[in-house]
Amino acid sequence: MRQLTLEFRHDEDTLRKYLEMKTDYSISLIVTDNSTCMLSVRNRGNSVCVRLHRIFLSADAEVLQEMADFIKTRRGSAPRIRHFIDRNSHLMRRKPPAKVTINTKGKRYDLSGIFNALNEEYFEGRTTASITWGRGCLRRAARKRTLGSYSHHNKLIRISPLLDTHKVPQYFLEHVVYHEMLHADMGVGTVGGRRSVHSREFREREKMFKHYSRAMEWEKKRWG
Ligand SMILES: [Zn+2]
Repeated sequence: MRQLTLEFRHDEDTLRKYLEMKTDYSISLIVTDNSTCMLSVRNRGNSVCVRLHRIFLSADAEVLQEMADFIKTRRGSAPRIRHFIDRNSHLMRRKPPAKVTINTKGKRYDLSGIFNALNEEYFEGRTTASITWGRGCLRRAARKRTLGSYSHHNKLIRISPLLDTHKVPQYFLEHVVYHEMLHADMGVGTVGGRRSVHSREFREREKMFKHYSRAMEWEKKRWG
């Protein structure tokens, strides 16, 4: 995320780490939208493969504790999990989220040109994420000052439409795009068990963008 105020929620990774901590297993976690199989646990080599429905990302500590116990023992009637599923079943009948529309051509800037040039220059063309101008929510974006974001789930970079104006110099927009491409390129690292969104390596690579200092200065002046 490219935000001036740090705010980040990373549910899948947090949940996986939580379950690992509680079970002492190495866990690969697959989050699905498949409501016919809410939770399945399978050994895979030295690790345990846990598939679970997306709604568990919002489960409370008691449900997750029971899930950890279930993963460990593979036994038990798991009443809390069942209750949680019952309580949330209405959420699962909802239609899947609308397909993401990709829109790279803005009023002022064309994101695909910028993305491709950065991809060649800094990533040897290996970044496969998609990029799009974000939609609407201008007020929210302005309040939170979210200029860009990267979703690992969709492999999608979203850039705030606030930046699609002649008032924003291209090098600043490029800096924001480059930042999100770094997220796509580096994945999510951890430092000492804590999730590190902007690791030291990230920060160092961020500075490799040739207009980095200019972009920082412009940002300070513009948004102070
Ligand atoms: Zn970021």
